Amino acid sequence: MGVCKTGSEHIASLRDGRTVYIDGEKVADVTTHPAFAKSVASAAALYDYQARPENLEAMTFEVPGSGGRRVNRAWQMPRSLDETITRRKALQRWARQSYGFMGRSPDHLASALIGQKMGLELFEKHSPARAKAFSDYVDFATNNDLFLTYVIINPQAERGKDWGAQADDLVARIVDEDAEGITIRGAKMMGTSSIMANEVFVASLQPLKPGEEDLAFSCALPMNAKGLKVLSRKSFEASAVSVYDNPISSRYDENDALMYFEDVKVPWDRVFVHRSVDMCRAQFHDTPGHVYQNYQAQIRLSVKTRFLVGLARRITETIGTTDMPQVREQLGYLASRCGMVDAMLAGIEAAGAMKGEYWVPNRHLLYSAQVLTQDFYPQLVTLIRDLAGGALIMLPSSYKDWENPELVPIIRKTQRSAGMTPDKKVKLLKAAWDAIGSEFASRHVQYEMFYAGARFVTTGHSFRTFDWADAGGMVEDLLSGYDLSTSARIAAE
Ligand SMILES: Cc1cc2nc3c(=O)[nH]c(=O)nc-3n(C[C@H](O)[C@H](O)[C@H](O)COP(=O)(O)OP(=O)(O)OC[C@H]3O[C@@H](n4cnc5c(N)ncnc54)[C@H](O)[C@@H]3O)c2cc1C
Repeated sequence: MGVCKTGSEHIASLRDGRTVYIDGEKVADVTTHPAFAKSVASAAALYDYQARPENLEAMTFEVPGSGGRRVNRAWQMPRSLDETITRRKALQRWARQSYGFMGRSPDHLASALIGQKMGLELFEKHSPARAKAFSDYVDFATNNDLFLTYVIINPQAERGKDWGAQADDLVARIVDEDAEGITIRGAKMMGTSSIMANEVFVASLQPLKPGEEDLAFSCALPMNAKGLKVLSRKSFEASAVSVYDNPISSRYDENDALMYFEDVKVPWDRVFVHRSVDMCRAQFHDTPGHVYQNYQAQIRLSVKTRFLVGLARRITETIGTTDMPQVREQLGYLASRCGMVDAMLAGIEAAGAMKGEYWVPNRHLLYSAQVLTQDFYPQLVTLIRDLAGGALIMLPSSYKDWENPELVPIIRKTQRSAGMTPDKKVKLLKAAWDAIGSEFASRHVQYEMFYAGARFVTTGHSFRTFDWADAGGMVEDLLSGYDLSTSARIAAE
């Protein structure tokens, strides 16, 4: 074993007999299947990137007591603003490896779990045994630099009914328990990255009610747990024509999947919340867990926004519109949105505070950023498409057109550009369509709109955490400075 985890170690760890289905068939090996192989390789490349000697210090830290073993900084629990910023820079460098398109890279769950661990005393109150299981598990995941995913949302089914009132076999619930552990049955969504992760954290983020204790648990399972079935969505990687035609979707399709737990046994040392409706909520919201997981998402989004704004400018250079006043205005507007995301990130960090030994980013500023960016992402995509016109569509059907000597001169004549060769123009615009127009791009719009909950959920967090007393206090201050008699006096003067 080297100083830190490598890509080949990660790939080997995925050959674990997990049960994944796609297109009606069971997948023998996710690391070689055409629906997943290139994206799995991109995930593995993250570990190779951090293991490079020149990146080790920026990307990793030494696990205390490990004899020199280093793991990704995502597992680091920052003890100051400075450490928070160092950690964030590492996460941004990882996000750059996929241009921000891999949302559930390993740093997402690492962030969620270290945030929850910062509130370990809550687990202690819930149950010392569950707290020990949780703390040991976070240590285990940290020491092994595991790639985790999570499923913390229930399938939509009948949204008007309580979760406990859904059909018995739908929402994952405890159906049995004994001296060894609990048995769970039912479904959770939406296991993004699950095909390339080592383990899955299962919990309930959506509020539960008293009486719904069977649903009120959290636990972790290896992806090859007996009875765990992963039903992959359509693979955009498999439908990509080639890397040339689809440079992003062919390599960074992190995948999403339904997880079905068919009487899966979870040993007690992997059960962190047991039959407590309140603790299900508290593990996310009364610890810094929810803040840290969504802070990671904003870090990643800062990279993706920068990439997309860069793409917008390159598109206008391609078609020779960059210097037109209206186009410059639109580019300036887009650049300001990129600045807004960066500024919010810096503010979220700087306005944080110590919680015990650890620095915790500012909760309300984080939720503000979340609400603004989930609205803004679809606008960003539309504004870039607006800058492009038909150029995004009038492209050779695939790389094969370049192999036909009859077509090449025609392509070169008709794909002229103001700022680059026809060959470069076609290459750039194919990448642009993949990022903002393709079915994969459309999944990304849905992701950015929903990864942290629908709008009514994120605005609810913002409502809950805003300092209404201060804002309302100013209004009261104004009102207290005059009354009817003041008005009468002023009128008389
Ligand atoms: C691509 C993608 C990947 C994701 N990956 C993961 C993952 O890896 N792990 C994970 O746990 N989650 C993941 N999620 C998030 C999660 O699965 C949910 O999509 C998200 O939390 C929103 O919940 P929902 O889909 O049930 O939507 P709903 O909450 O049902 O909302 C859908 C719409 O219904 C309406 N609505 C529903 N209920 C109400 C209500 N009570 N009041 C008002 N309006 C209402 C609103 O119009 C709302 O916009 C992912 C989501 C997407 C899209």
